[in-house]
Amino acid sequence: MEFADRVTRVEPSATLAVSNLAKELEAEGHDVVDLSVGEPDFETPENIVEAAEESVERGDTGYAPSNGVPELREAIATKLQDDGLDYEAGNVIVTPGAKQALFETFQTVVDEGDEVVLLDPAWVSYEAMAKVAGGDLTRVDLSPHDFQLETALDDLADAVSDDTELLVVNSPSNPTGAVYSRAAMEGVRDLAVEHDVTVISDEIYQHINYGPEHVSLAGLDGMYERTVTINGFSKAYSMTGWRLGYLAAPEDVVAEAGKIQSHSVSSATHFVQYAGVEALENTDVAVEEMVEAFAERREFLLDLLAEHGVEPATPEGAFYMMLPVDEDDESWCTNALEDAHVATVPGSAFGAPGYARISYANSKQRLAEAVERLAAEDYL
Ligand code: PMP
Repeated sequence: MEFADRVTRVEPSATLAVSNLAKELEAEGHDVVDLSVGEPDFETPENIVEAAEESVERGDTGYAPSNGVPELREAIATKLQDDGLDYEAGNVIVTPGAKQALFETFQTVVDEGDEVVLLDPAWVSYEAMAKVAGGDLTRVDLSPHDFQLETALDDLADAVSDDTELLVVNSPSNPTGAVYSRAAMEGVRDLAVEHDVTVISDEIYQHINYGPEHVSLAGLDGMYERTVTINGFSKAYSMTGWRLGYLAAPEDVVAEAGKIQSHSVSSATHFVQYAGVEALENTDVAVEEMVEAFAERREFLLDLLAEHGVEPATPEGAFYMMLPVDEDDESWCTNALEDAHVATVPGSAFGAPGYARISYANSKQRLAEAVERLAAEDYL
């Protein structure tokens, strides 16, 4: 069969190689410590599960309105207003996962040949989504800046021009755990306004933040009309398998992106949306407990690594850190998996060769086991 250019120009995810090898080793009976996964290791809070069950029992099993049930769009708008953003329910599209919200945004904004700017290391799917939409990538490397944006603003200024269509900002960041400062975000704002650039602000790790203030780009002067805010339920509420996320944007964006949604997935799952209402309205304590657990594990892991003389940039949010490894990070990850049975993701998958991404969404016992095995096999 002859395939369309838009799919052949996308590489399969480099993380697949690691997870396939990990599965093979497990099938052979080895105990693999999997630090490669991008999801919380907690159960979805019970009240959220119950809200979905009640919704099914009420009969919410038919098609939902394409952009989302009014109750959830309202609850999301209220949450965004509490964060100081000017969105109403009509500015929200509820999607099956933040990934779909991002995909729709790329499809809506990027034309063939348009320039898309990414901050490296960047989450793997941005590149694929930009390419499927026909965009040309320009990448700004934050690695020499300890993954921070504020000190890299000059590099960003060199990359962004009147030809730039879209800039993607993800704070707290996957894969680095960096949380960008207000000054950094204001720098983004100045460039976006000067060059009339649309900005995606992917805030999916908003709540998993260990201190620094979270800054939503859409709240800065001049940004509301050019920002698409992305968020979701997977990470904060431990709901990865439920597939629930959203975008919030000016109404003209909602009108256009809503076409992609209605002609593709139709809507997010009907009864899952009522679980989302419950998550937003009644789950603060459970979220706090999860975030506290992540914060403790971060300290625990940093201390263990320090004992072996390894000092990664301290992540301030999400549940990832970038471990400095060999220049050939792909071989390092494969070998560490084969020899120490510890799975990590090569940094080059995120545009950051020389690092391995570790997820510390794992028990302290498993984190300790991983460090011990890596040290015993001379990987630290
Ligand atoms: N953005 C980032 C930065 C992510 O890490 C992820 C999940 N790995 C997503 C978006 C998508 O999340 P979901 O589709 O589960 O809501």
